[in-house]
Amino acid sequence: MRLLLLSDIHANLEAMEACLAVAPAHDVLVNLGDVVGYNASPNEVCERVRAMGGTVVRGNHDRACSGLTDLDEFNLVAAISARWTQTTLTSEHLDWLRSLPQGPLRNNNVAGLELVHGSPRDEDEYLLNASTAVANFRMPGHADVIFFGHTHLQGGFAYKDGRVRVLTPIFPTGEDVVEYAMPLLPGERYLINPGSVGQPRDGDWRAAFALYERVGDAPGAVTYYRVPYHVSETQRRILECNLPERLAARLGLGR
Ligand code: ZN
Repeated sequence: MRLLLLSDIHANLEAMEACLAVAPAHDVLVNLGDVVGYNASPNEVCERVRAMGGTVVRGNHDRACSGLTDLDEFNLVAAISARWTQTTLTSEHLDWLRSLPQGPLRNNNVAGLELVHGSPRDEDEYLLNASTAVANFRMPGHADVIFFGHTHLQGGFAYKDGRVRVLTPIFPTGEDVVEYAMPLLPGERYLINPGSVGQPRDGDWRAAFALYERVGDAPGAVTYYRVPYHVSETQRRILECNLPERLAARLGLGR
C-alpha cells in the first residue's frame, strides 16, 4: 500500500505540477490541507486537486479563504491574501472548500493511520517542537502513524517510552529532485509531516512532499522528496495579481 502525501499546496500551481510530475505510483492520495491561500492560482489548484480525488483534510486557510472563519488570527499579509482568494475563487470551489472535513480523519484504506492538518488534538495547533509532540502522543485513542501539515516544515517526530526523536530529512542543496528514505521502527509511534508543496519554510525553496509505503503489518517507510519548480513564474503571478511582494520573496528563500 502506497500513500502519496501532499500538504500546504497554498495555490501554488507550478510547485504542485512539479511534484505530481515526479511522484511515484501510489494507491491512495492524501492531502493534509491548506489547498489555497498565499499564492496566486487558487482556482487552478482547486480544479486539479478535486480532479485527482483522494482524501482532503481542511486547513485553516481553507476555512478562512472560504469564509468559514474570520481573519482575526491571520497576520496582515495572510489576511490580504485570504481576502483576495475569497473574491477570486469560483462559487463552486468556495462550496467545495467549505465542505472539507475537519481532522483527525482515519484512512479507511490503511488501518492504523490518521490524518490531521495541525495536530491530533487541535486542527490549528503548530507541531513545532518535542514538547508539543509529546503532549499529542500522550492523547489517548490516536493512531500509531499520524500525518500532519500546517508548519510547512518537512520531517516530524518519533515517540517511544515517553521520549521523542525529531525527524529531519537531510538533502543536498541545489536544483535537483532529491529523496530521503526513512524506515519506521517497530514499537515507535510517529507524527510525519510531508512538508509544504507550495510555501516551504525550512530554508529549502524546493517543493516538498512524501510517500508512505507499507507491506503487511510491518511499520513501513516514509520517503521525503524535494522538487525544484519554476518559482520565478509563481512569483510573477503573485506580483501580477497585486498580492504582497513578501509572498513572492519568501518563495525564493524557502522561508
Ligand atoms: Zn499552511
